[in-house]
Amino acid sequence: MHRVVVTGGAGFIGSAVVRMLIRERDAHVLTVDKLTYAGSLLSLADVMDSPRHQFVRVDVCDAPALRTLFGDFRPSAVVHLAAESHVDRSIDGPAAFVQTNIVGTFAVLEESLRYWRALPALEASAFRMLHVSTDEVFGSLGPGGFVTETTAYDPSSPYAASKASADLLVRAWHRTYGLPVLTTNCSNNFGPYQFPEKLIPLIIARAMAGQQLPVYGRGENIRDWLHVDDHADALLTVLARGRPGETYNVSARCTKTNLDVVRAICRMLDTLQPDSKIGDRESLIEFVSDRPGHDRRYAVDPQKIETELGWRAGKTFDAALADTVAWFLTHQDWCAAVQEGHYDGARLGLGAAR
Ligand code: NAD
Repeated sequence: MHRVVVTGGAGFIGSAVVRMLIRERDAHVLTVDKLTYAGSLLSLADVMDSPRHQFVRVDVCDAPALRTLFGDFRPSAVVHLAAESHVDRSIDGPAAFVQTNIVGTFAVLEESLRYWRALPALEASAFRMLHVSTDEVFGSLGPGGFVTETTAYDPSSPYAASKASADLLVRAWHRTYGLPVLTTNCSNNFGPYQFPEKLIPLIIARAMAGQQLPVYGRGENIRDWLHVDDHADALLTVLARGRPGETYNVSARCTKTNLDVVRAICRMLDTLQPDSKIGDRESLIEFVSDRPGHDRRYAVDPQKIETELGWRAGKTFDAALADTVAWFLTHQDWCAAVQEGHYDGARLGLGAAR
């Protein structure tokens, strides 16, 4: 756990993992990130001055570059988060998802294997490669039940299909080559530093500005929500105590319709930042055409990580949302800077150009 390569560490979840490793785990961290539209060094500002943190701008598909980095840094673990992560963008342009999420994961696996095989026995037995995946690989659930680690994969979007492909490669590198891998499948995250194209930060930004709040379909789709710091804590728990070759579902058992989430944000902002010109923010809600292939319901059973590894989500939804709304209220400069030249708030994911 002491020398950790974090791919995608300049993104939303990756930067939370890097902050936790530096501040709470005393680790040495090498952040490897291509800095796509979704990655920013501004998200790593808290740790950029740490003598235990290094950053390199590298594409995870670049195997020779990874080989050099692993050889020089000599990690005891690789936490692989680098990915194209937005379902709507995967509908408009799936090629980048196939490239980074599948080919990139292949490169990380190959270079982890090469590096791991050359390690002395003691270091090799401690080495871990943790692949960070999503509950979206399981596809849409009916009205009842949860997904467990043994639920069959049934991805709907190009994003989910690319992550499912990566998960299967990871599994194969364990079964075939013995690489000590771990995989996590986590539910929807929210919290500080999330790029403002995703539901919660997008709605916060628009509601703050008194703009219309677009809700796909009738807002009845259900997601299972987790604060990003709880996810980061789960990842470091799996890294420390997970059994190689196993997969672990991560969630706080917190299912809500999108409409309920949007309404909760409206109520919170009406209290924290009342504005007589805007009035009641729920009146800004506007139902818009649905996402093609929109999964109806996600619900994840975290029993395995709870009973086997003793992890449990620490924050309630209300506390986590309050933390998130407060953060966005005080970090409008970060929001403006990361969106500049990359995203103007336009509707994505109708696949109209294809
Ligand atoms: P994000 O889009 O905020 O960050 C992704 C990061 O990866 C960015 O910093 C980006 O620059 C970097 N990146 C993209 N392509 C790269 C490449 N080719 N080489 C190197 N770096 C590259 O995503 P996120 O929400 O932080 O998600 C991180 C990981 O967690 C992803 O693998 C995602 O599938 C998974 N995940 C996300 C959620 C969620 O709710 N956000 C839930 C479960 C799992």
